[in-house]
Amino acid sequence: MTRKLIAGNWKMNGSLEANEALLRAVLAGLPAALGADVAVCVPAPYLAQVQALCQGSPVAWGAQDVSAHERGAYTGEVSAAMLCDFGCRYVIVGHSERRQYHGETDEVVAAKAQRALSAGLTPIVCVGETQAQRDAGQTETVVQRQLAAVLQSVGAAAAGMVVAYEPVWAIGTGRTATPEQAQAVHALLRAQLRAALPDDRAVRILYGGSMNASNAAALLAQPDIDGGLVGGASLKADEFLRIVAAAA
Ligand code: 13P
Repeated sequence: MTRKLIAGNWKMNGSLEANEALLRAVLAGLPAALGADVAVCVPAPYLAQVQALCQGSPVAWGAQDVSAHERGAYTGEVSAAMLCDFGCRYVIVGHSERRQYHGETDEVVAAKAQRALSAGLTPIVCVGETQAQRDAGQTETVVQRQLAAVLQSVGAAAAGMVVAYEPVWAIGTGRTATPEQAQAVHALLRAQLRAALPDDRAVRILYGGSMNASNAAALLAQPDIDGGLVGGASLKADEFLRIVAAAA
């Protein structure tokens, strides 16, 4: 069975003081024999702090975005090499908030995934439909198009990535996809990976969208749900630890 991954996405939250309290509580609460992989994806200015606190611990860390460019005159951007300098293992790419508020297209997301993979990072590639797309019966088409753009661009290197299914209507709304709804989309994505990659099992497919301590176990019990990408609930140590426990 695939070892599950629980990744927190702090989004634009935190402070030096709050991060330290949160991470110390998470590190203290993890069991000695941890049965799942755990990571936190934090705002870029806090990477050095998180590296210092998590180095040598079972908690890996990463960023929430990366530039599609290697280096140079791209004011405000952070490169994959810079993330590597701070020990990142993961970087989220194509989160719906980036697609929605920053105009990231499938092509841009694919370029970012490619850049992350070339630098040795594990991109967590997010896909997901809006409520309007679901209502119009377009869920399959949308998520398959989003994943196909990355698969076509990165080729066999896609074996080094993680996929996250995040239905936009479930993000930050408290409305989780039911385990059956999530499983149905995960099965589609798994089939798409299987068709594209000889070693598709290396790619974990996480569910994201109002995952919390109460619904995590049922979601994680689905055959094609290999972990979670957790927003709001990753900001509370106790809640995050309970989700990790449900995955282990
Ligand atoms: P919430 O868990 O707050 O719904 O956020 C999900 C998400 O967007 C994780 O990337």
